[in-house]
Amino acid sequence: MTVNISSIRQLRERLQGQLFQPGTDEYDDARKVFNAMIDRRPALIARCVDVADAIAAVHFAREMDLPIAVRGGGHSVIGSAVCDEGLVIDLSEMTDVQVDPITRTAHAAGGTTWGGFDRATQAYDLATTGGIVPSTGVGGLTLGGGIGHLNRKFGLACDNLLSADVVTADGRLVTASANENEDLFWGLRGGGGNFGVVTSFEYQLHPVGPVLGGEIIFPLDQAKTALRFYRDWSTDAPDELRVDAALVSTLDGPGLSFEVCYCGEIDTGEKVLRPLRQLGSPRLDTIDSVPYETVQNLLTDVFQPGMRHYWKSGFVREFSDDFIEALLDFFVADMPAPFAAIAIEHLGGAVSRVGAWDTAFGHRQAQHSVLILRMWQNPADSDANIQWGRKCYSVVEPFLESGAYVNYLGEEGEARVRSAYGANYERLAALKSKYDPTNVFRFNQNIKPASSTA
Ligand SMILES: Cc1cc2nc3c(=O)[nH]c(=O)nc-3n(C[C@H](O)[C@H](O)[C@H](O)COP(=O)(O)OP(=O)(O)OC[C@H]3O[C@@H](n4cnc5c(N)ncnc54)[C@H](O)[C@@H]3O)c2cc1C
Repeated sequence: MTVNISSIRQLRERLQGQLFQPGTDEYDDARKVFNAMIDRRPALIARCVDVADAIAAVHFAREMDLPIAVRGGGHSVIGSAVCDEGLVIDLSEMTDVQVDPITRTAHAAGGTTWGGFDRATQAYDLATTGGIVPSTGVGGLTLGGGIGHLNRKFGLACDNLLSADVVTADGRLVTASANENEDLFWGLRGGGGNFGVVTSFEYQLHPVGPVLGGEIIFPLDQAKTALRFYRDWSTDAPDELRVDAALVSTLDGPGLSFEVCYCGEIDTGEKVLRPLRQLGSPRLDTIDSVPYETVQNLLTDVFQPGMRHYWKSGFVREFSDDFIEALLDFFVADMPAPFAAIAIEHLGGAVSRVGAWDTAFGHRQAQHSVLILRMWQNPADSDANIQWGRKCYSVVEPFLESGAYVNYLGEEGEARVRSAYGANYERLAALKSKYDPTNVFRFNQNIKPASSTA
């Protein structure tokens, strides 16, 4: 859809930030997202600099009957930060983070990335659960749930959300918290960006000083023993410890990698980690007492923009010997070229102590999730990489729960979206009818308004 010149001029006059339209280099730059597979052409991109811009952009979209995509960090693998034909409300310039060390809280503007957030909060030795790659946005990650190195100690990112300022589909600015617009507050914590433009997130922070963290890599011939050990040991681990395990294919060759973050007393952590560090003969062990931001940066070099991505995922129901063998047999027989990973992420702890209906994120009981990840550069390799990802998923699927994590979900159809929201779907659909009855915010893992077919 094209928007006429006088309307574009009107919007430009209402915005403090920039407005990009097709046919310019800035537009082509602004429509790029993290996953290079995505190539969408919005009608307009409004790069907002403040709340007033976001409100003006929502009103304009409504007047022009344009659907809206919201861009936070732009990391969504399905590229839901951009759309064809609609209006992109791009928050990437809104990155201010204000920390209050007395109340241990932080306000982060809607386009903040976790790198910026950690930098601001770690200046006070504070942190909250956030994404493990610094360029990921606080926006999409929190609204979908938000798993990260601190999740077993402090819960998900959404569990640490205290309030949010939201521009709703009718262009109103509302605050959602435990005391105000409580229904919306519930839906924001796992409802995946379905309810409006969040211009500010307020988080609870926690003291997080140096952590014990780093990576241990075992050669593949020790992977079966190490994975069996990991299953039992990680399930009984203290909340301070999160360890992800991943079968990886990197430029250094294949291996089983453990990424570690212990956020309690360092001496105690040394004891807790000893059994893992004394297991077999790892080819690398970088565990040390380091600043929290060092652990948050472990994967920065791996996840550079401009790469193509294909992801599949689920929550592990049965972490059995058969599951481990199925993973290893597949990985060894169909050894992928770099970069590929089958990552097992460590949940449980504080994540599991929140009720399945207390927030819109309902997958509280799984102790581990699995993420199959392929990353490549050459478009000609796309089919082979996607096929590998699908084949791998068919191997692990029998061991998974039926639901999925909305933030890792691909374009997998409506039934799968419903199962991702699980038992909370109907309540979310009713909330969608209240706050976005015509489904203006539809570029996400979409919840259809209960009373319409929009
Ligand atoms: C390299 C990489 C690492 C990742 N690591 C983690 C991880 O450690 N833990 C984890 O849980 N997930 C992780 N993810 C998944 C991540 O949570 C999702 O991709 C998430 O959508 C990213 O948020 P974003 O703001 O960057 O995304 P965007 O693509 O900008 O947005 C994604 C969705 O959220 C909505 N949205 C974003 N910001 C706002 C806002 N301010 N207001 C309203 N809606 C908004 C968008 O409309 C869109 O539908 C990772 C993804 C990548 C690519």
